[in-house]
Amino acid sequence: MEDHLYPIPPDGKFRFACSPEAACFNECCRDLNQFLYPYDILRLKKRLDLSSSEFLQRYTTQHIGPESGLPMVTLKTTHAPGRICPFVTPKGCRVYPDRPASCRTYPLVRAISRNRATGNVSEHFMLLKEPHCFGFDASKSQTAQQWMDDQQIEIYNHFNDQMLEIIRLKNQLRPGPLDRKSRQLFYMALYDLDRFRTRIFENTLLEQIAMDPQKLTDAGTDDTALLEVAMQWVKQVLFQS
Ligand code: SF4
Ligand code: SF4
Repeated sequence: MEDHLYPIPPDGKFRFACSPEAACFNECCRDLNQFLYPYDILRLKKRLDLSSSEFLQRYTTQHIGPESGLPMVTLKTTHAPGRICPFVTPKGCRVYPDRPASCRTYPLVRAISRNRATGNVSEHFMLLKEPHCFGFDASKSQTAQQWMDDQQIEIYNHFNDQMLEIIRLKNQLRPGPLDRKSRQLFYMALYDLDRFRTRIFENTLLEQIAMDPQKLTDAGTDDTALLEVAMQWVKQVLFQS
């Protein structure tokens, strides 16, 4: 059986359940090619008690997006055959409360579209049926929204949608490859958050934009506030929106 994608209407239900008792338990944590978004990294490095630089060095590989020309980050798999996630154990995911957005969304695929006139975002969902996953045999059914709510994914989508907006801005305002310095700044601001924090409080990175002083104070100790600052900085300084 091949992988298949099925669109799910807004109120349509799909049958699916996952549990450690499933015969396919952990099968979805191998054969990975997993992109990490900035908020995924924020949560994982915190869970593992690492700095962002340590996390990136130990667990990730950097690439340049072929279409966007922007730095992208993927999770390094283990050296064992099968491209296995470094966080999977016989008992399941050892970073489960902070697992990445794509692990939470699975078996759904989420796409968004933005209304040009109003800027409003609408969500669309598809169901990804892969032959190794037996979760579709379950009797439990739910809507896409119920699934997303159960997975506590709202905060991830908040930041991931901003990331897509940054990519859109970049493609619109600076099409083609970025220069080396802009690539390094983009990578540091969005992925290597602890280093970005040090830089903004030590030197002049923020001189070029007006930033809410309260946001900046919060960013001194709160990673989520820092990522808001970083995204605003990337949009305004690198892509001048
Ligand atoms: S393969 Fe599907 S049912 Fe099995 S553990 Fe993974 S998500 Fe759950
Ligand atoms: S992070 Fe957890 S859920 Fe996601 S692939 Fe790795 S072990 Fe599986």
